[in-house]
Amino acid sequence: MSTDIVVMGGGITGALISDALVSEGYKTMLLDKRDIAWGSTAATTSMLQYEIDVPLYQLSKKIGEEAAALCYRSGIKAIRELEQLIKDGNIDCGFQKKTSLYLAHTEIASKWLYQEFEARQQHRLGVKWLSPSAIKTEYGLNSYGGILSKTAASVDAYKLAHELIHRNTKKGLEVYDQVEIKNVKHNNSGIVINLKSGCQINAKKIIYCTGYETVKMFKEPIADLHSTFCMRKRRRNKDQ
Ligand SMILES: Cc1cc2nc3c(=O)[nH]c(=O)nc-3n(C[C@H](O)[C@H](O)[C@H](O)COP(=O)(O)OP(=O)(O)OC[C@H]3O[C@@H](n4cnc5c(N)ncnc54)[C@H](O)[C@@H]3O)c2cc1C
Repeated sequence: MSTDIVVMGGGITGALISDALVSEGYKTMLLDKRDIAWGSTAATTSMLQYEIDVPLYQLSKKIGEEAAALCYRSGIKAIRELEQLIKDGNIDCGFQKKTSLYLAHTEIASKWLYQEFEARQQHRLGVKWLSPSAIKTEYGLNSYGGILSKTAASVDAYKLAHELIHRNTKKGLEVYDQVEIKNVKHNNSGIVINLKSGCQINAKKIIYCTGYETVKMFKEPIADLHSTFCMRKRRRNKDQ
C-alpha cells in the first residue's frame, strides 16, 4: 500500500493530527497496534488545563520570561482552538468550559503559589487569588489559598478521538488497527513500513503519536516512566 503520511498511534493525538492532515489534503493512513484510542486516551480524567507541569515563575528562570509566558499562553490558545474545532464539527464529546482551582495544601505551598499567581497575573492569564475563607465558602474545602483560573475545560477524549477518526474516514483517512509493525526503514524517497502480516506500506512521512510508549523508541533514556493504575469499582446497584 502507499500513502503520503502514516500516523502511528490512534489516540487523541493521532486523531487530531490526522484531522489536520486530511483537512490539508494529505493522503493519510492511521495505524495502531491496539484498538483505536485504547492507550492512555481511554484512561484520561479528561481535564483540559493550560498549565504545564513546571510553574510559570520557575519556567521563566529556566527559559526566560517571554518564552515561558508564550508556553502558558499556548495552553490557553489550545483549549480555545479545541473548543472551536468541536463547535465547528458539532462533535458530541461532552466538551464543557470550566474554571480551575489550584490549591495550596500547606502554608509553605501557599507562599510559592502566591508567587506563581503574581507571575500569571502579570502576564494576564485570567487568574484570581482566593483566600482560604473564600475557598471554604465557595467550595467547602480547607486550604491555604489558591489560584482560580478562568480558562479550563473537560472533554471525553476517547469519544472525541473516535468521532474525529470516524468523520475523517469519510474524507479518505485509511485506518488499520490491531496492526503489528515489524520494522520501519527510511530511504531517500521516504519510509517503508513492514508489518508482521507481510504487508508493506510506502509513505513520504511518518508521524509518531504513540503516547507514553514513545520512550521505547529512543536508544537514549528520555524519560523515567513509573506505572500508574486507573481502577474503577463497578456498583452492583444504586444503593451500594
Ligand atoms: C490515569 C490517567 C489520567 C490522565 N488524565 C489526564 C487529564 O486529566 N488531562 C490530560 O490532558 N491528560 C491526562 N492524561 C494524559 C493523557 O491521557 C494523555 O496525554 C493523552 O491521552 C495522550 O494521548 P496520545 O494519543 O498521545 O497517547 P495514547 O492515547 O496513549 O495513544 C497512543 C496510541 O499509540 C499506539 N501505539 C503505541 N505504540 C505503537 C506502535 N509501536 N505501533 C502502533 N501503535 C502504537 C497505542 O496503542 C495507542 O493507541 C492522563 C493519563 C492517565 C494514564
